[in-house]
Amino acid sequence: MSTRKLPSSIQTFRKGYAIPYRNLCNGNRKKIIKRITFITNPHTCNQSCDICFAQQAPLSWEQTQEMDFAIIEKTVKAFLPHGLTEIIPSTIGEPFLYSHFEDFLKLAKKCNVKVNITTNGTFPNGGIEKWMPLLQPVLSDIKFSAMHGKIPQSVEEVVSGQWLVASSISIQATLGKNDKLDKVPKGVNRVKINEPWILGRMIYDAEHDCPFLTKEAWVWVDGTFQVCPNPDARFGMRTKFPFGDFGNFAMQEPLEIWNGKKYREFCKNYKENPICKNCKMR
Ligand code: SF4
Repeated sequence: MSTRKLPSSIQTFRKGYAIPYRNLCNGNRKKIIKRITFITNPHTCNQSCDICFAQQAPLSWEQTQEMDFAIIEKTVKAFLPHGLTEIIPSTIGEPFLYSHFEDFLKLAKKCNVKVNITTNGTFPNGGIEKWMPLLQPVLSDIKFSAMHGKIPQSVEEVVSGQWLVASSISIQATLGKNDKLDKVPKGVNRVKINEPWILGRMIYDAEHDCPFLTKEAWVWVDGTFQVCPNPDARFGMRTKFPFGDFGNFAMQEPLEIWNGKKYREFCKNYKENPICKNCKMR
C-alpha cells in the first residue's frame, strides 16, 4: 500500500480550516459543491424597495433575526474539502448590516474562498473606506442593485477607486415597463437586466433542468437547508419548508443532509413537483 507524502506547505489553521488541505482533498475527492448562499439577515435593510420580496411578502413567519455565525463556520468547514470555492451573504436584506459581516470576510480569507455580494450600494456600518479594503482580498463579484433602473451613486466611487482590481463589478437592474436604466459608469464589467419578479405569477411551463440542484446550497437564517432560491417557493408560500424539511445545518451534519436520501430523492423527482414544473428559473 502506498503512503501519500503530504506537501510541505500543509498547515492546519485555527479551528481546523486548512487551505492546503482543501487543495489536497480536491485532487483526490469528488467536488460536490462550489457555492453556498447564507441568508444571514433577511430582516435587516436600510431601504424599502417596493419590489423587494420582503415588501411583497413580509417574513412574519420567521422569528430568527440574524444567522448565528457558528452556522457559517460549521458549514464552510464541512464543505471546504469538497470543492467549495465561493460563499454569498444574504441576498435578501443588506449584507453589510449583518453584525458578523466582518467575520464573514475574514473567514473567507482564511479559508481561501471567494465572496460574491449583492448590495444596495449604501455601504452601511462604516462606508466604502472601511469595507473596500476588507472586501478586496476575497471578492469575486459585487452586484449593485439598480431598482427601477436607479444606479447607486457609490458605483461611480467604486469603479474610480483602486480597490477592486481582481474582481468584477456588476449592475443588477430591475426594470418595470416604464423604467429606464441610468447611464452605466465606465468600469462596470457587467449589466444584468431583470423584470420585477411578482410573487404568484407562475405561468411558465418549464422545460430545462434545474440549474441549482446538487450544485449549490442555500442556508436559511436559522440554519435550515434550502434547495434553491426560487422566491415563489420561499416567500410566496410563506414557509421555510416549501419542498419539505430536508434538515438544519445548525443541528445536523451538513454533509449528511447534502448526501442524504431525502434530498437526493428530491433531486431525482423534482420535475414532478408543482413548484418546479412552473419554475421561471429553469
Ligand atoms: S423551484 Fe425547483 S426547478 Fe426551480 S430552482 Fe427550485 S428546485 Fe430548481
